[in-house]
Amino acid sequence: MILLDGAKVANDRNLELKAKIEKDVEKYHRAPSLSIILVGENPASQSYVKGKGKACKLVGITHTLYHLEDTVSEAELEALIDKLNHDDDVDGILLQLPIPKHLDDIKLIDMILKEKDADGFHVVNQGNLYQKRPTIYPATPKGIMTLLKTYEIPIQGAHAVVIGRSNIVGFPVARLLMDQGATITVCHTKTKDLAFHTKQADIIIASAGRPELLTKDMIKPGAVVVDVGVNRVDGKLVGDVNFAGVSEVASYLSPVPRGVGPMTINALMENTYELYLKHVSR
Ligand code: NAP
Repeated sequence: MILLDGAKVANDRNLELKAKIEKDVEKYHRAPSLSIILVGENPASQSYVKGKGKACKLVGITHTLYHLEDTVSEAELEALIDKLNHDDDVDGILLQLPIPKHLDDIKLIDMILKEKDADGFHVVNQGNLYQKRPTIYPATPKGIMTLLKTYEIPIQGAHAVVIGRSNIVGFPVARLLMDQGATITVCHTKTKDLAFHTKQADIIIASAGRPELLTKDMIKPGAVVVDVGVNRVDGKLVGDVNFAGVSEVASYLSPVPRGVGPMTINALMENTYELYLKHVSR
C-alpha cells in the first residue's frame, strides 16, 4: 500500500505558491489577503481556523481573523460581510462552518461576493462547477483531486464510489471525478447495501463523517481509498476508514490526520491566490 501523503504534497505545493506570491508582491505591491470569519467556540472550527492561519503565514497571504461571539446577530454578520465585500484590500472571504443554528448559513454564504468566495461555496460558483464552467472549486474536493493527480491515479474509466452527498464534499467531488471520466456511484444514508457498491469501486472517497465506517471486507483488492472523514473519538482523530485493515488490501490510502486535511488547506491557499490574481488584474 502506498500512502497518499497529503501533508507532504500540500507542503510542497504551499512552498511553490510561496515563491509565486513573493514575485507577485513585487509586481502588484501587495500580498493576497484572506478574511476568515469564525463564530463561537467550536473546538474543531478553532483548530481548522488555526491551521488556515498558519498556512497563510507560510505562503505569504495576509489574513485577518474575525472571531465573533456565538450570540452574534445575523444583521451584524451581514454588515461584516458587506464591509469585506466592499474592501478593496480583501481578495478572499471565508465563513467557517458550521455556524450556530440561529444564523442562516446559506444566506450568509451567498452574500459573500462570488469573486471573493475563497471556499467555492457560493451558489453561482457551485452552479458553474456543475455546468463544468471555469470557477472556484470547493477546497476539499479540489484538494482530493490534486492528491489523486499527484499520485497519477488513473481516473478515466475508473468506477468511483463516493460515500456522502454533501454540498461541500460528496456531491462536488463526484462531479469532478465524473468530469475526468470516472463512472460514479454516490452512496448516502438511504443506500441499501453500502458494501455492495464499495466492493466494486476502483476509487473510494469516504466522506460520511462516521468513524471507521469502511472496513477491509468492503473493498476490492487494489482499490484506491481517500479518507475524508474527521471524527473525534475519545479525544483522538479518526477517519471514516479502518486504516489498519484497509491498508492490507488497498493500493493507495490517505491517512487521517495528514491526508485530505492539509490538501484542503492548500486548496484554500490556491483559491485565495487565484482570487487575488483576478482581483489585481480587474
Ligand atoms: P455531512 O454534511 O454530515 O455529510 C455526510 C454525508 O455522508 C451525508 O450525505 C450522509 O448521507 C452520508 N452518510 C452519513 N452516514 C452514512 C453512512 N453510514 N452510510 C452512507 N452514507 C452516510 O458531512 P460533510 O461536511 O460532507 O463531511 C463529511 C466528513 O468529512 C466529516 O467527517 C467532516 O468532518 C469531514 N471533512 C473533512 C475535511 C478535511 O479537510 N479533511 C473537510 C470537510 C469535511 P445523507 O445525505 O443521507 O444524510
